[in-house]
Amino acid sequence: MMPGIGRPWWEKATPDDVVTVGAQLGRPATGLLAVAARCRFGQPAVVVTAPAVEGPDGVLEPFPTTFWLTCPYLAEEVSRLESQGWIARLSGEFKRDPQKAAALRAAHEGAAELRRQMVTPPIMERLERVSPHAVRRLASAGVAGSRHFEAVKCLHAHLADHLGRGGNPVGRRVVELLDEHGVTLSGSPACRTEQAGACPARLPEGRSVSYNEGRSPILQQVFEDAGVAKRQTRGT
Ligand SMILES: [Zn+2]
Repeated sequence: MMPGIGRPWWEKATPDDVVTVGAQLGRPATGLLAVAARCRFGQPAVVVTAPAVEGPDGVLEPFPTTFWLTCPYLAEEVSRLESQGWIARLSGEFKRDPQKAAALRAAHEGAAELRRQMVTPPIMERLERVSPHAVRRLASAGVAGSRHFEAVKCLHAHLADHLGRGGNPVGRRVVELLDEHGVTLSGSPACRTEQAGACPARLPEGRSVSYNEGRSPILQQVFEDAGVAKRQTRGT
């Protein structure tokens, strides 16, 4: 896939991953290109999606969400933060501080730049035939298709961007908040037993890997960035 664009921690999605992500999302995993982060059980936690996907009629549609947080455990925990008002709180935090505002803008711009690199000339041509307006929006939109670069819209999207692309300051704050709530990025022991919030898909044979085996270098890096590496590795 797209040589030179992917991050070193991305892995090509396997047929197992396609099945798992479909079960995690509850719909077919269209446009799935790669897995950007895996949990300690080896399941996809963040996936990379094509910038445009074919609709049922074969017409190409823009898809501005490059990174998708598919881990049901993390998605639920991030929803909990959102329901506690953290979108507004982080929006305020990042608006008040000019340095933070600049870092957020840079993350949106970085997300837009990566998407522009992912749109190959043939995709661009097909999209332009459908709608030049859609192409412009796809090329200029930030994290999760956001058009307002001072905005924090969805914490799932910022965390996914942080784990998938790297360097998203809001995603970094979400990692800290999750850590404060005792939520580990590499999944919960309960995920293995498929309890509430756990991954609905069963582990394929031989796919029981641990975080300590280094399957997800991005998680390790993010743990270290957030200064939570010690706590994360304990008890895994
Ligand atoms: Zn969200």
